[in-house]
Amino acid sequence: MTGNEYLQGKRAVVTGGSRGIGEAIVRVLHHAGAKVAVNYRSSADRAGRIVGELNEIRPNSARAFGADVSDPKEVAAMFSSIDEWVGGVDVLINNAGYEDCRHLLDISYESWTKVLHTNLTGPFLCTQEAGRRMETQFRADSASSGVIINLSSIHDSVPRKGFAHYSAAKSAVAMLTKATALELAEYNVRAVTVAPGAIRTDMNREEIAQFGEHRFREWIPLSRVGETHDVSELVAFLCGPQAAYVTGSHLYVDGGYMQGLVQYDPRPPR
Ligand code: NAD
Repeated sequence: MTGNEYLQGKRAVVTGGSRGIGEAIVRVLHHAGAKVAVNYRSSADRAGRIVGELNEIRPNSARAFGADVSDPKEVAAMFSSIDEWVGGVDVLINNAGYEDCRHLLDISYESWTKVLHTNLTGPFLCTQEAGRRMETQFRADSASSGVIINLSSIHDSVPRKGFAHYSAAKSAVAMLTKATALELAEYNVRAVTVAPGAIRTDMNREEIAQFGEHRFREWIPLSRVGETHDVSELVAFLCGPQAAYVTGSHLYVDGGYMQGLVQYDPRPPR
């Protein structure tokens, strides 16, 4: 016990939780006292290792659940298995994401649907499954509340070449958050979008190396690439009681990237 288990007794589901930002979120929610369902699509070994480590710290506090979030049957089966394990859901983190860099004119139908289904249909399906459980849970116990966090991207509002499908999906998921906040507020469920900038994970490690990290330092006002903990700590805060009045909000966690788009004017010098 650390004395700061503000999520003690909460049951959290993190999609795409076996690496990157998802893994960091799994670890920080667990550290705050939650029981965590770690969703993975194909990395059973990685998910198993993480869960093993967490259960060493607190027995039966984490479990891995395989499911493709874009498949309605697999998502339904996963939530049923989570019910059998912990009997419900208090926190859902829609983190699983997929990108496929292609010129707009070269995006195949398959690429379009995979990107849309992973980044948008997945959060929709998981929100329905979690939301239906939260509806009955929190109606019965008005002192409790639920939280749904959707991971978007700075590219939900700033387009980027090669990412038309990704940007369209992330933009839509930000609106899904607002609809969720509006419709589930009566069940005491909050929903928030967290939109990262450049965060160092497997998704973009090569890209950062290819462009050169010094260029990201020039582009980003806080002068560094983000780390997974920059996102996971914010997500955990938003799940906790300090954020009890925050819903429908959209938060960029980008080191000011979105504010530094005017690159051509170095005045005034200091
Ligand atoms: P990542 O590629 O390292 O991890 C994504 C995880 O999602 C992986 O574990 C992957 O297996 C899982 N996943 C993909 N498709 C899935 C599916 N159909 N079902 C279940 N799981 C699936 O990516 P990351 O960098 O950790 O990104 C996490 C989230 O943050 C994503 O939604 C991403 O779009 C978003 N994001 C990341 C960055 C960044 O710079 N890394 C920036 C903006 C937004």
